[in-house]
Parts: sequence; structure tokens; C-alpha cells
Amino acid sequence: MQEPVRHIHDKLGRPLRDLRLSVTDQCNFRCRYCMPEELFGSDYEFLPREKLLTFEELTRITRIFVSLGVEKIRITGGEPLMRRELPKLIRMINGVDGVKDIAMTTNGSLLAKHAQALKEAGLRRITVSLDSLDEERFGRMNGRGFKPSHVLEGIEAASAAGLKVKVNMVVQKGVNEQDVLPMANYFREKGHILRFIEYMDVGNSNGWRLDQVVPSQEIVKLIHAEMPVEPMEPNHYGEVASRYRYAEETGKPGEIGLISSVTQAFCSTCTRMRISAEGRMFGCLFASEGADLREPLRGGRSDDEIRELITGFWRVREDRYSEVRLSNTPGLKKKKVEMSHIGG
Ligand code: SAM
Ligand code: SF4
Ligand code: SF4
Repeated sequence: MQEPVRHIHDKLGRPLRDLRLSVTDQCNFRCRYCMPEELFGSDYEFLPREKLLTFEELTRITRIFVSLGVEKIRITGGEPLMRRELPKLIRMINGVDGVKDIAMTTNGSLLAKHAQALKEAGLRRITVSLDSLDEERFGRMNGRGFKPSHVLEGIEAASAAGLKVKVNMVVQKGVNEQDVLPMANYFREKGHILRFIEYMDVGNSNGWRLDQVVPSQEIVKLIHAEMPVEPMEPNHYGEVASRYRYAEETGKPGEIGLISSVTQAFCSTCTRMRISAEGRMFGCLFASEGADLREPLRGGRSDDEIRELITGFWRVREDRYSEVRLSNTPGLKKKKVEMSHIGG
């Protein structure tokens, strides 16, 4: 029988439990809050293929993290479906003994084509990002004129293939607040959980201002006035979204989530390690520097040596950016990694 693995803990006592693997830094969208066109235009240099971790390297990393107690893997990007043969990677990761859950975050634009293959490869859950059902607004927000129907088709295909679907919507004041209720109605009808994400100051390029954040509590109030909701217990330790269900008297079940990284930081239960597409480890979405794993992986280091690097990195981790974002903590203004390099 396999020995249960003891989790390693960081300086703030948080266990390492989840792994987010970014498989590409490229994306076919140019969401203004993530990869604004003026900074990620035609002369932007994306990573050349040889700098990306290979599927074999990503699988090896997964195996090592699993040996340290990680059970949940999330594939992200950039846009993960822009990585060729992604279902092959899902199958390889699914084959790692001890992986209990594989999920993916995607903009959904290429999902209709790949949903069935992803499911067959072992993907269980998918989070699809969609910020509006309005063609013009969505086209503007994604910076490339993609229509919501593209993404909705992807969601339908994923659902039909048997994947559990959640939808993420970033809400920005003055940009898409008017879409909150139509989105809530639509996804309640469809039976998918919709999660509202507070607009964050990720990377260095989105020109974030606090007054552009719509606090989650405002969203709950807005929805509650139309369709009463009541709070629910979290599913598990470290769950990032606060959950609400539509009240019984409204006659139809359904659930929403609120991800309040600005107004209600959840750093104290943050158990996630992120690996960028080029193989750097990040202990926080807002970190400025990661630690390289690619060279050690390619330079003949053993699994034990890599495990030491990961353990050493996690043990000194003390990131809690969202808890101190609005304070004058020294070092806070350092250059941050871009979201499209390490995923959400
Ligand atoms: N391209 C995929 C997608 O959009 O789902 C995966 C990567 S994307 C970086 C992961 C998530 O981060 C998406 O749900 C996206 O909406 C969210 N995100 C990106 N920039 C954000 C920001 N400034 N504030 C809040 N969420 C953001
Ligand atoms: Fe691409 Fe996702 Fe960033 Fe939008 S949020 S630009 S879809 S990586
Ligand atoms: Fe985790 Fe950093 Fe986000 Fe806090 S700010 S929840 S430490 S990723």
C-alpha cells in the first residue's frame, strides 16, 4: 500500500497542494486586462518552441509534485488550446500515479473542436472565461472581435462531451457591469456555475486602478435584488470562490461564485504553485521572479535533486500580495510576471 504523502509547508504554514502548469505564453485574444494589443502587438516576441517545456518535461514535473503531495493539476496559459496536441499532454498527465484531478482554464474559442478529445484524454473539468454575451462589448474586451457565440459553442461541446463546466467572468467598472445579470440568468438556465472575478492588477501592462474594481459584494447585491441568493459552505480548504446558491423560492437551482482577490484576499489559504511555459516556478500570481526548473530538468539533475529545489523554494515562500496590495509594504512596486506567462 502507498504511504500517504506529507505536504510541505511554506513560511506562513500553507501546504503545497495544487499545481498550475502554463503550456504556452501565446493567445489568440488580446483581453485589455491581460495582454493589451499595444504591448502584445505584432512585434512582441513570444517564447520560441525550444524554450517551452516539452510534454515529457511537464509530465516529469507533475510526477515530482505529486510525490510532494499535490493531487490537483490545472492546465492554463496564455491560451492552452493553442499548444499543439494538448490532449496528448492531458493523457500523459492523467497517467501519472496519484493525480486525482485535472482541470483546464481556456478562453473557449477553440474548445468546440477539441472538447471530445480532451475528455477522452482524461480531462474532467473545464473553466471557460467569458466576460459578456454582448457581441460588441465582448469583441472589444477580447481585443480581436471574437463573438460570444464562439465561446458558447465551446461550452456546449464541452458539456456534451461530459466535462464539468464553470464559467469565469472578470467584471470591470464602466466596461461590462451591465452584463452581470444577463450572464447570471443565462448560465443559471444552462446549469453551469458562473464565477465573478474582481479585476486585478496582474502584470505591468493593464493600467489597473482600484476604482475600476467592482467589489464582489456589489455583485451579490445586484443579483440578490433580482434573484435571491444565499451563502453556501466552501467545498474544500483553500477554495478561492465564495459560493452562493439561488434561494429555493426562486424555483430553479443554481450556483454562483465570487472571486474577491481585491476586496477579500484569500492568501492565507493559497496552496498553489505555478509553472510558467518556460519552466519557472512562481509562488504567487504577483511575484516578480520565479526560479528556473528548465535548466535543471535538461541538465541531467535527478528527480530527487529537482524535488529538493521545489521543496527549498516552497519552504521560504511568504507571498501574500493580495493581502498587502493597498499598503505601502516595501518591494510591492517591483515588476511583476505577466499573467499570460503563468495563467490565472
Ligand atoms: N487564456 C485562458 C483564459 O482566458 O481562460 C487561460 C489563461 S487566463 C490568464 C486565466 C484567467 O485569468 C481568465 O479567467 C482571465 O479572465 C483571468 N484574468 C486575466 N487577467 C485578469 C485580470 N487583470 N483580473 C482578473 N482576472 C484576470
Ligand atoms: Fe488570452 Fe486568457 Fe489573457 Fe484573455 S485572459 S488575453 S484569453 S490569456
Ligand atoms: Fe496566492 Fe499570491 Fe493570490 Fe495571495 S496574491 S492568493 S499568495 S497567488
